Amino acid sequence: MSVIAVVGAQWGDEGKGRVVDYLADDADLVIRYGGGNNAGHTVVNAHGHFKLHLIPSGIFHPRTRNLLGNGVVIHPPALVGEIGELALAGFDASNLFISDRAHLVMPYHVLLDQLEERERGAAKLGTTSRGIGPAYVDKVARRGIRVVDLMEPDAFRARLDATLVHVRRQVAACLAAVRADPELESAVAEATDATAITDAYLAAAETLRVHVVDGQVVVDEALAGGERILLEGQLGTMRDIDWGVYPYVTSSSPIPGGASIGAGLPAVAIDQVLGVAKAYTTAVGSGPLPTELDDATGEALRERGMEYGTSTGRARRCGWYDAVAVRFSVRLAGYSSIALTKLDVLDGFEAIRVGVAYRDPLDDREWGTVPASASVYERLVPVYEDLPGWQADTTACRTWEALPQAARAYVERLEELAGVPISHISVGPERAQMIVR
Ligand code: GDP
Repeated sequence: MSVIAVVGAQWGDEGKGRVVDYLADDADLVIRYGGGNNAGHTVVNAHGHFKLHLIPSGIFHPRTRNLLGNGVVIHPPALVGEIGELALAGFDASNLFISDRAHLVMPYHVLLDQLEERERGAAKLGTTSRGIGPAYVDKVARRGIRVVDLMEPDAFRARLDATLVHVRRQVAACLAAVRADPELESAVAEATDATAITDAYLAAAETLRVHVVDGQVVVDEALAGGERILLEGQLGTMRDIDWGVYPYVTSSSPIPGGASIGAGLPAVAIDQVLGVAKAYTTAVGSGPLPTELDDATGEALRERGMEYGTSTGRARRCGWYDAVAVRFSVRLAGYSSIALTKLDVLDGFEAIRVGVAYRDPLDDREWGTVPASASVYERLVPVYEDLPGWQADTTACRTWEALPQAARAYVERLEELAGVPISHISVGPERAQMIVR
């Protein structure tokens, strides 16, 4: 292996952090290439149970360097907080690097995220309200502030002053909502106070300074040295800004094309793409989810899978595995193979369903792919195939042969539907609970 991208093949929360933690044993460099601290990667290993939001999941391997790539958006005080939490657990983060080209999440981004969601009312997107979307908007609108600016106090102040003019105009547009809510009024004052922001961010800069690098140089040296690099995705294909179910999408590209841009390496340098898919489906936030189960089975998946958001604690929407969505992701991402996670969550089910196609109740037409229109997608219903469950504990299985026959048949059927091999099967959150075929 030299460069492997680990990419979410569904709606996010597939267990990418767990897979990266597993693979990082062999990696020299792990790079997060998109998103911000809206991500929540849960890693359970010999050192404990960790919830990572920004820091790459290779941080627990002292020999592995970890880079927050240029494609990530960074909330400096949140990152300082995360570094502090790791320090309490005995990790000094000296193996953490931050690209100087990464953009910053500012307090007004968090505010705007909340104001915009409020304005959307019933049509809200279900964002994590961490300011990630507005930070990417500023990046594209060319008024973003980057890590490199944070390292130069005068440049930082100048860029902040210029941006605040625009932010105040945006906030003024939501004035009615602001006036109606005294709490919001003080939040606005706080999030647009140039002096308070400068003090907090420049203080964070002093902690972060030792970690800041030209990310491209780090990546280039690693490539030249034949080092093993892991690219860690956040969210999944179905939330990709271009390919996800628009507008219920994130503001960056979780697919491997986004990895090349957000990590700072040539697309052709990626040797392998490992798709991570859960053995069933979950999603946080709004938008169509054809195989969602709003019943006792959905509840059972949620409870057995402990499907509550790492970042927000929100209950995840749960349903059967959607083979159409994963196949769509395979076509976009070109997976070399798939890591199937949480197979153990299905252990107790008598029968298991797999969505193998969609049907449009309006004209009875069958769909084998994901439509561009969210309203069309909303009305599609899944066509299911039923498979027998195995009703046996798989959490102690460490080999393919040790899995119950029905579990192997289930994996083989998913493999057939995806059209690529399933190379890894995870049967528990711990590092060792992984079957490699
Ligand atoms: P990520 O954002 O893709 O890294 O996924 P999350 O960390 O948000 O969600 C995955 C959750 O499932 C975490 O709580 C993991 O500890 C847990 N997990 C990962 N793989 C397995 C598995 O095979 N079985 C079980 N039971 N839990 C798992």
